Amino acid sequence: MKSCNKCLYSTNHPFGLNFNQDGVCTGCITHSEKFDLNWQKRFEKLKIKVNSFKKNNTDYDCIVPVRGTPEYFYLLDIVINKLNLRPLVVCYNSHFNSHAGIKNIDLLRETFDVDFIHYTSNPLVYKKLIKESLSSLYSMRWPFLAGETQFPVKIAIEKKISLIIWPYYQPNEQVGLHSYIEENEMSRRSRHEYDLLKNEPNDFINVGSLISKFDIEDIEYPSNSDLSKGKITGIYLSNYIPWDSRKYSEKMIDKYNAFAAINTRTFDTYDRIDDMTYMTIHDLLKYGKLGYSRVTDNLTREIRFGRINKEDAKVIEKFYQSQIPIKEIEIFLNWLDGITLEGFKWYLNNLPFKINFNLTEDVILNQKQIDFINSFIFNTESVHSNNKFITYGKGLNI
Ligand SMILES: [Zn+2]
Repeated sequence: MKSCNKCLYSTNHPFGLNFNQDGVCTGCITHSEKFDLNWQKRFEKLKIKVNSFKKNNTDYDCIVPVRGTPEYFYLLDIVINKLNLRPLVVCYNSHFNSHAGIKNIDLLRETFDVDFIHYTSNPLVYKKLIKESLSSLYSMRWPFLAGETQFPVKIAIEKKISLIIWPYYQPNEQVGLHSYIEENEMSRRSRHEYDLLKNEPNDFINVGSLISKFDIEDIEYPSNSDLSKGKITGIYLSNYIPWDSRKYSEKMIDKYNAFAAINTRTFDTYDRIDDMTYMTIHDLLKYGKLGYSRVTDNLTREIRFGRINKEDAKVIEKFYQSQIPIKEIEIFLNWLDGITLEGFKWYLNNLPFKINFNLTEDVILNQKQIDFINSFIFNTESVHSNNKFITYGKGLNI
């Protein structure tokens, strides 16, 4: 295993990492373009690009997929107020919604006054897919990722809308897969290789899984014949704006009162706060498989923007990795129905990196590290204040 001289990433990263002669990773090298490129010029280029997709006043110009976190306010702010586009906003329900996430979705709809499709797949099928994904891929998030990355494309075909605007492409942000000047676009292949890590919903259909062809309909990418009905372009704003999740989230909290909430296993009060399982079950599985967790991603971003040094980051990383959210794990296991906490510990033990449920080691943070953590804003209840997932949306408060 080789580690980067600047950030916290190593060759364990599932997207793949290369290094220059100074031992600096491709993620850090691509990140430096955020300081070096002429972003004003790049944004002008984006304006010209999206102009060709503009329709008359009654039609949608583009589809914008969202989640209930502050940075999606920024995405819509740019699309509506800077690019003057009329979006159809879509959201694929994770089924694990937090209060903060649902409040953000509500506020987002109200603030931007947009037409909105919130799609919820069949909960029993979704649960079956998650059980299969846990057993074959050691992932509970894979069915959501597969659904979230196909749904906007399916709607684009159905509504004859040719443009989809995503905020950023995670492999570019983390490991610098493409330079921003390459302006990579969404594709079936990039979804297969990076979002789905080379697995396909069809792989779930086998004798032992009890998953049928009908069960995977909501997570399958549209067929080539459907795609050929109209060319769909999926662009990433981060190729035209130097994406900074933290800075943009804070701007949106300031401008629109977007909600930010304390989460487990990371200091970042903006990242994935819409989902009660992301920093709990998903994060433990990530650690078990790769030896690092989401806090490492968050800290790497902060190091690259020069907001923390590597030594402090390492202490904070250790602090959050030692947090084992037992209560939150039990909420998920109850939802899943059929696995006990002991059974889940045994299951995690099959992974290469062991998770210590009986941590005795205390990580002591110094004042500077505490100040860094406290510099992240929160303005609503914690992601885990609720003891169950908000399954279908806000619903009736009865
Ligand atoms: Zn690096």
